[in-house]
Amino acid sequence: IRTIGILGGGQLGRMLSVAASRLGLRCHIFEPGAAPAGDVAWHVTTASYEDEDALRAFAESVDVITYEFENVPTSALDLLESLRPIRPSRRALAVSQDRLTEKTFLNEIGLATAPFADVPDEAALPEAIEAIGRPSILKTRRMGYDGKGQVRIGDGPAEWTGAPSVLEGFVNFSAEISVIIARGADGQVSAFDPGLNVHESGILRTTTVPCGLPGKATTDAVLVAARIANALDYVGVLGVELFVTPDGLIVNEIAPRVHNSGHWTQAGCAVDQFEQHIRAVAGLPLGDGKRYADVVMENLIGDDIARVPQLMASSGVQLHLYGKGEARPGRKMGHVNRIVG
Ligand code: ATP
Ligand code: MG
Ligand code: MG
Repeated sequence: IRTIGILGGGQLGRMLSVAASRLGLRCHIFEPGAAPAGDVAWHVTTASYEDEDALRAFAESVDVITYEFENVPTSALDLLESLRPIRPSRRALAVSQDRLTEKTFLNEIGLATAPFADVPDEAALPEAIEAIGRPSILKTRRMGYDGKGQVRIGDGPAEWTGAPSVLEGFVNFSAEISVIIARGADGQVSAFDPGLNVHESGILRTTTVPCGLPGKATTDAVLVAARIANALDYVGVLGVELFVTPDGLIVNEIAPRVHNSGHWTQAGCAVDQFEQHIRAVAGLPLGDGKRYADVVMENLIGDDIARVPQLMASSGVQLHLYGKGEARPGRKMGHVNRIVG
């Protein structure tokens, strides 16, 4: 394999491209919008997912197709899959594109989720609230990220999200952790240490490793992630977000791609999540994902970008900037990995 096709040209595609180039591989990015990844990739196609000619030309120029973005339309995937292998597979994508399918799958393989109810339209909401109770969170089934498409349901009247949704019971967690796990084409599995995640207004703020939880909880978390990866016959890097509760671990959601809460691996490991993903999709052996440092990853969101000069002057700080233009509120502009031990 020489050329990897990546659907999506955001910061994740950018960091995947850098990892691929270090291994002597090159990336062709397909992205309908602005592509921060374009600065570092071998080639970029800017076209819509409806443009069949562009999709065909893209697929024919690459050896394997992966993605940094899970909301690729089915019609585009059908065409791409007829031309080149897609890794992780269509099934992994289908399961994680839709919160209802995802939670149903997780329960089927014996993993706990928040209690949930299908809410196909606004008229179904009162009955769902009756079943799940308050407080709860209404989330669109598709397309949500960074807390977008979510409505908290408290004591007052309930707002509607405007699209088919699931209603989730509110989980009183003591902590949020995530496991980033890689699985190779041969079924070899390598998990990074679980990280402790702190969110602000639905957006990831920091990830800290080690996560500070007892050994049993961290082992359980890795086993949960491995069960998901094996059940999907997964190839690539998978992110699994978990809630820690007194009754055990609850899976919040999964992401069939490299994950923001895995950025610490760039400073903590010999082989980071981006290289691990490239190795897996290229059919190469996985690398050493052991953690060699204690790291705090902090996202630079919106105006945080003003802190760059000061961060550049700090020791133990690894700075990553995504080359995005304007610093809008809530926009992820970069991140820092602080080596703390
Ligand atoms: P991401 O950017 O991680 O894909 P998302 O938009 O898919 O985000 P979720 O991960 O579902 O959103 O939720 C964002 C955050 O909101 C969670 O990390 C958690 O802090 C909180 N949250 C979500 N669901 C629940 C729940 N059922 N109970 C309590 N808190 C929740
Ligand atoms: Mg999500
Ligand atoms: Mg999430």
